[in-house]
Amino acid sequence: MHKKLFIPGPVEVRQDVLEKLAGPMIGHRTKDASALQQRISEKLQQLMFTKNTILLSTSSGSGLMEGAVRCFTSKRAAVFSIGAFGERWYKMCLANGIAADIFRSELGQPTTPEMVRDVLSTGKYDLVTITHNETATGVHNPIFEIAKVLADFPDVISCVDAVSSLGGDYIPVDELGLDVCITSTQKCLGLPPGMSIASVTDRAIEKAKTISNRGLYFDYVELYTFVKEKPYQYPSTPSLPHMYALDYQLDRILAEGIQNRFDRHAAMAARVQDWARKNFALYSNPEHLSVTVTCITNTRGIVFSELNAAMGKKGYLLSNGYGALKDKTFRIAHMADATLEDVDAMLGDLDEVLKQF
Ligand SMILES: *Cc1c(COP(=O)(O)O)cnc(C)c1O
Repeated sequence: MHKKLFIPGPVEVRQDVLEKLAGPMIGHRTKDASALQQRISEKLQQLMFTKNTILLSTSSGSGLMEGAVRCFTSKRAAVFSIGAFGERWYKMCLANGIAADIFRSELGQPTTPEMVRDVLSTGKYDLVTITHNETATGVHNPIFEIAKVLADFPDVISCVDAVSSLGGDYIPVDELGLDVCITSTQKCLGLPPGMSIASVTDRAIEKAKTISNRGLYFDYVELYTFVKEKPYQYPSTPSLPHMYALDYQLDRILAEGIQNRFDRHAAMAARVQDWARKNFALYSNPEHLSVTVTCITNTRGIVFSELNAAMGKKGYLLSNGYGALKDKTFRIAHMADATLEDVDAMLGDLDEVLKQF
């Protein structure tokens, strides 16, 4: 039996979207391939509220995250971490020999605008990374307030990990002034894993051109040049199946209405948060709760693997805690094409199952 996924990626993918993956291959250097990439880019620009250039990568989001710190840091990177994925960006810096410092918030808490101002005021940094939505703790950062601080440091390149939020949460890239904003296909966009997306500013690319050892596969200058000059091509062979499905799914997203999509995510989040407050407790700061994933403190000391196995028999997969929070918490994702009815049905079964514990 297929278990319906309520984990923070990969997510349930609609059958009609899955079928698009099976389209016949086309030559990746053809005009058809360029037209496909152009359509995808223009629709993503709408979803991201940006005029910036859209880059695609045949990799999961981690590839573009690693490429970003490598391509845009010349002095030193300031990595703000609110959990597992901030830690990951810091590791990527170290693994690539990039000078970096990590600034951690307590788990369950956001990065504050004050922290960002204090760190950038030292003048030591020319790149900053922010996790928009921390999937491990279910926190979304106050990105509007943080962006106001970033605007006071125009020489710093801003890179935002929106992997688990873009497409479900409002991230107006141009209004926020984000240089690089990254997401993956297998979370709020509702596609299978295997492709990732970044928006990038021209000024970030100009800076990258002055930096050597950017690597090649995740070199933003190379990806950008192929979009601008070919135009709308990809330096190597992209995952054309993902592109077919992405083209189709973006039409669906725009037909739903971007605001409707955000509202649906907010409604699902509110429902799961209410359930969690009633039955357990929310792990994270209630002022900064994610609209795409909820992290629940296991106040009853239930063996989560047993709970998840019982839910499995009902046809669902939930998520355990991540990293340091593995035994303390569990997570329910509410992203992509899930509906309030899906969430209600799952919570109803979860109530049933909990009676056994
Ligand atoms: C899933 C996730 C990642 C990693 O993305 P991949 O596509 O698996 O490489 C990074 N950041 C956050 C916040 C995520 O949720």
